Amino acid sequence: MKIPLLDLSLQAAPIEAELQAAIQRVVRSTGFVGGPEIPSFERAFAEYCGTSFAIGCGNGTDALEMSLRAVGVGKGDRVITVSHTFIATVEAIVNVGAEPVLVDVNPQTLVMDLVAVRAALKAYANVRAIIAVHLYGNMVPMDDLVTIAREHGCAVIEDAAQAHGARYRERRAGAWGELATFSFFPGKNLGAFGDAGAIITSDETLQQHVAKQRDHGRREKYTHDSFGRNSRLDPLQAAILSVKLPHLEGWNVARRKVAGRYAELLPSSLTRVAATPGCEPVFHQYVVQHERRDELRQALAEAGIDAGVHYPLPVHQQPAWNNEGLPALSLPVTEAAAKRVLSLPIFPELTTAQLEHIADTLKAALQS
Ligand SMILES: *Cc1c(COP(=O)(O)O)cnc(C)c1O
Repeated sequence: MKIPLLDLSLQAAPIEAELQAAIQRVVRSTGFVGGPEIPSFERAFAEYCGTSFAIGCGNGTDALEMSLRAVGVGKGDRVITVSHTFIATVEAIVNVGAEPVLVDVNPQTLVMDLVAVRAALKAYANVRAIIAVHLYGNMVPMDDLVTIAREHGCAVIEDAAQAHGARYRERRAGAWGELATFSFFPGKNLGAFGDAGAIITSDETLQQHVAKQRDHGRREKYTHDSFGRNSRLDPLQAAILSVKLPHLEGWNVARRKVAGRYAELLPSSLTRVAATPGCEPVFHQYVVQHERRDELRQALAEAGIDAGVHYPLPVHQQPAWNNEGLPALSLPVTEAAAKRVLSLPIFPELTTAQLEHIADTLKAALQS
């Protein structure tokens, strides 16, 4: 039995006719940049997330960079975020000319530790923004983070690339900060057929700033208010995302069911990543921790099961960090997690037989 980490063919199959129709609509319109597919998806996505606006763009990394620029982050500023994330979060900070201040994560939930955020705000001046990363589909406790940020006059940006549809208390991921960013990379909970991304916000000034940035600072066809960039959402991707969005909630429910089955089947010696109290996670990844992570991954591979590691090398230990001249850091929880985390296959269509095979393989490996 071969089990991939993620099987996208199973997701596309039941909606293939709708997807083909959407693609055909764009092909026949010959509108391959701009056009009605984009605002139509943007409206639906903003409504789903519970914000006033969504602005489609090229990918989640550009979304982060444009969000930082929209709240005025640049040279001489500092931005707090975590090292236990995909590199893009930190890359965006460096690429706008600001300095990343990386803090440790909570050992139970593996998302940003708010005690560490408070300490960083004491230790560093000129912190203009905090990027909260909702890793694995779990969320940072946003009410407390927003309170801390208000006290210090800094903006909150949510990196929700792994948390489409997650909820913390009464609001979804992305509806807490000044702005939030999403990636629709194919493997995310809501994925396009290529690169795509979005920013959401309820602030009209920020919406306009970002909408201009993604399209060359354009006011009219050849009138430009600023030097922006080209990071537009493709209408083809917008059409595909519009077909998929109504299914997202159901897919997330199915992911939570799979996670629930894992919790029943897996041996207790595998430490699970806890959900933040008050959060309804969407399990972009299902992550366990163990000292013998590499051995377990090997045993799974031998049984035909694909597992992942998110992420094996924290950002502050990447060659890029050192090459950029950034200071050496010690983040013990992050560093321990990088050695222990193991992402098990998770997707809405994972069957009970597959789950049992994965659990049995892990049990056998742990006993050997
Ligand atoms: C995927 C991801 C990104 C980057 O998104 P792209 O669309 O690939 O640029 C940023 N942050 C996190 C946490 C991600 O998982």
